[in-house]
Amino acid sequence: MLYPQAETPAEVAANLAAIRERMARACARAGRDPAGVRLLPVSKTVDQARIRFAHAAGYRAFGENKVQEVQLKQPQMADLGDVEWIVIGHLQTNKAKVVARLASEFQALDSLRLAEALEQRLRHEQRQLDVLVQINTSDEPSKYGLHPDVAASFIQQLQQFPSLRVKGLMTLAIQSADPERVRACFVRLRQLRDRLLPDLPAGMRLDELSMGMSGDFEIAIEEGATVVRVGQAVFGARALPHHHYWPSQQLPEEQVL
Ligand SMILES: *Cc1c(COP(=O)(O)O)cnc(C)c1O
Repeated sequence: MLYPQAETPAEVAANLAAIRERMARACARAGRDPAGVRLLPVSKTVDQARIRFAHAAGYRAFGENKVQEVQLKQPQMADLGDVEWIVIGHLQTNKAKVVARLASEFQALDSLRLAEALEQRLRHEQRQLDVLVQINTSDEPSKYGLHPDVAASFIQQLQQFPSLRVKGLMTLAIQSADPERVRACFVRLRQLRDRLLPDLPAGMRLDELSMGMSGDFEIAIEEGATVVRVGQAVFGARALPHHHYWPSQQLPEEQVL
């Protein structure tokens, strides 16, 4: 699929409007209220000048896959005063400090070691952080995210970390040309959420299902997404393919970055 580069405020605004229109149609098909689905523009590799076009179109929160980019862009855009950074990619524990300081939400929580590092740093910053637990719904063994079978015990253990406000689940669907294989991943996430709800610890919520990207957000909405993370359809194609960001062969962390 081709995503032309959006180089002007009007082009970015038009892309955002077109995506919202497609989101509304998907909501209508599923009998859902469009107000129940957030559009999170994903700004990884996009420079601050073009992110400002989305801000001018009314968007305040931006998804970034790598904390290094948040560290770079946060000060560049601090003058706007109301920008929120949502980290959606795998995080090394040694970068927990940056997320604790600069992110408004973290969508890729998938280890207790990381939860503990975030807790420590958040206490230091005297703040709390909204988190989503990332689940591997595609049966690809090396993709990031927890196996659905361990999600229940993982969530029970998160009670040790009161600075983390658990809000929901996140997943990446399988990369497949077959929409029904993609849909199966989204169904798996929703059904897992429904199974987890009865034993959910007090104070935690699983209202949020973050699923769907440029190529599959309509299917995700049909299956219950409350947040879609859309990059290329907003800003244009990226130079690097998806597997640069979530390798299908597990590489040492240095190489992943
Ligand atoms: C880049 C990214 C997206 C958005 O992908 P697009 O193809 O640009 O829509 C969504 N989720 C995660 C975790 C990403 O890294």
